[in-house]
Amino acid sequence: MGHVLALAMQKGGVGKTTTTLSLGFVLAERGRRVLLIDLDPQANLTQGLGVDPSALEYSVYEVLLNPERGSVFATVTTSSGVDLIPSSLDLAGAELELAGKVGRELLLRKALRETRTQYDYILLDPPPSLGLFSLNALAAADAVLVPMQMHAYALKAMPQLEQTIELVREIQPSLVIGGIVCTLADRRTNLSLQIEQQVREQYGDLVFTTVIPINVKLAEAPTVGMPIGSYAPHSAGALAYAALADELEARYG
Ligand code: ADP
Ligand code: MG
Repeated sequence: MGHVLALAMQKGGVGKTTTTLSLGFVLAERGRRVLLIDLDPQANLTQGLGVDPSALEYSVYEVLLNPERGSVFATVTTSSGVDLIPSSLDLAGAELELAGKVGRELLLRKALRETRTQYDYILLDPPPSLGLFSLNALAAADAVLVPMQMHAYALKAMPQLEQTIELVREIQPSLVIGGIVCTLADRRTNLSLQIEQQVREQYGDLVFTTVIPINVKLAEAPTVGMPIGSYAPHSAGALAYAALADELEARYG
């Protein structure tokens, strides 16, 4: 059974998509069977893999609309070695349409029932809002990985995320926070170090030892549709995500 992990945080720009993409690539490079699912109408993950969301017949939207069909029909293989269920730009209107469906929070979980047996890791990249797509991601996941940007208000977002996880536990009782990743760190500044220290004091072993630094290569890679591991394999960003993958594999095997 594959591990289903959701990269969740109800804020944009904290490194959800970058972490999904970069970790997914490393795991696939190591021979793991990896599926990435883009649940964000902005389709950053899809585009970051060099896939044009407007050229696709199916997206995660069709998967959510027809969960009994499974997910293979909407899965594309990418040159990066990971499989992808892409987002589409018209996902934005889909939320309303799905809102009327029975069991609307459990559509993704249902669609992945068979799929899970085919992969070692399924990483879910939800949008920054706590709407139906995020709820579907959380309800489909075994664990939440929380990317936390090292800036002043980083910890302020946690209570709301924890509350949401608590709510989702009513339908998915075994959902846990699997780990917290410190992202966009600038270890030359006191502020970044202080925030990191606060996060570690509050969350202890949940926080991965690896810290993801601010690295310009990480910002460049999606503009050419490549994961950092193939765009700049020796960059600080790529090395950090490889170390994070080591830790993840030690936790999940
Ligand atoms: P989210 O998915 O949480 O909105 P992203 O992963 O898309 O966040 O990151 C937001 C922006 O910051 C993107 O342009 C991305 O390329 C950039 N970025 C993410 N992580 C880093 C990093 N460690 N160093 C430099 N830029 C980064
Ligand atoms: Mg994103």
